[in-house]
Formats: sequence, structure tokens, C-alpha cells
Amino acid sequence: MKKILWITTGGTIASVSSESGLVPSQDAADLLQAIGTLISGIKIVTEDLFTLDSSNIQPEEWRMIARRIHAVYQQVDGIVLTHGTDTMAYTASALSYMLLGIPIPVVLTGSQLPLSHPLSDGVDNLRCAFAMAASQVPGVYVAFDRRIILGTRAVKVKTQGFDAFESVNQKLAGRVDSRGLTINTKVTDFPPHPYVFTDRWC
Ligand code: ASP
Repeated sequence: MKKILWITTGGTIASVSSESGLVPSQDAADLLQAIGTLISGIKIVTEDLFTLDSSNIQPEEWRMIARRIHAVYQQVDGIVLTHGTDTMAYTASALSYMLLGIPIPVVLTGSQLPLSHPLSDGVDNLRCAFAMAASQVPGVYVAFDRRIILGTRAVKVKTQGFDAFESVNQKLAGRVDSRGLTINTKVTDFPPHPYVFTDRWC
């Protein structure tokens, strides 16, 4: 059974309503309870790194995330990182270079509606992210609305629609449809690159 580490960092997916609007406050245990048994066949281990709206994520947080992934990547088959959507594309891009050539899948996802909302897109996004994280296809990706996008190509294009992310000047790395998860190997088969961890440039 594949072992996937789920790292949480906050964002709408982990938010609850308050008098001042949505506040990221749910931890991995709450989120895991919300998705219940919908994800099966993989062993999920969880870790809460921080709980932020992603508009407050800066290079210091990128460093924290990259260092944590670097510390554990040899002990797991893949990593899912839940993150706010506003700066998810920037974090995905930064991690793509900080973890250049990482030999496992690192998959960022989030949602437009909190997981605590009955109509949340978060469950679907998480299921696709876990499928990609268990795929053994190395690299950094964004999983959103049944699309898998290279971390260096993702851009947020919608503030409300569930199809919030597009892949700029590159085909999708994968998609989820009636065939399940299909990987576009023309996009994911990079020339082999030794794994190089960098956390000093930002
Ligand atoms: N403001 C939120 C964030 O980026 C939006 C979201 O997660 O969709 O953390």
C-alpha cells in the first residue's frame, strides 16, 4: 500500500466561517474526518505545517515547506500539500525549483469552498491529488477540478469557478475522467535530472 504524506498549510479548504469571514482553522485531523473513507487503498499520514491564508505566504513559508518535504521524501511514496488557491501557483513554481528533480510526486491542491461546506469542491480535488501523489510520476503538480498541471505552468484564472487553474503554454500533465487518472507522459517525462535541494535563493 502506498504511503502518502498530507501536509496542511491552511487556505479556504481548511477554513470555517467566522464574523470576519472565512478563517483557516481546520487541521489535518478535522479535514481527514471530513473526507472520511472516500479515499481508500492508500495509507495517509498527516502533518500540520502552518494555518495561513495563502495571501500571507512568503518565501519564508516556501522554505519551511521545501525543507519539510526534503526531510521526509525518502520515507513516503508521494506528498499532498493543501494550500490556499490565491498563491498556490507561486508556491508550486517555487517548489519546482527548490526541489528540482525530486523523485516522488508532490501535489498541491485546495478548494474554492471550504471542506466543511456541503457543496465543497475540496473532496474531489483531494481525491485527484491523492491519486496523482500515488502515481509514482515524479515532479511538482497542482491538482484542481480533475486537472493535473505542472507546478511551473499553473496559473489561477478564476476567483469563484471550480475550474480555477489553467496550464499556461503547456498541455495538462494529466486529467481524471471516465478512465480514471490519465497521465500525459509527453508532459511528465522530463529528461532525468539528479535531485537537487535548494533553499537559499529566496
Ligand atoms: N484566500 C484564500 C487563500 O488563498 C483563497 C483560497 O484558498 O481559495 O488562502
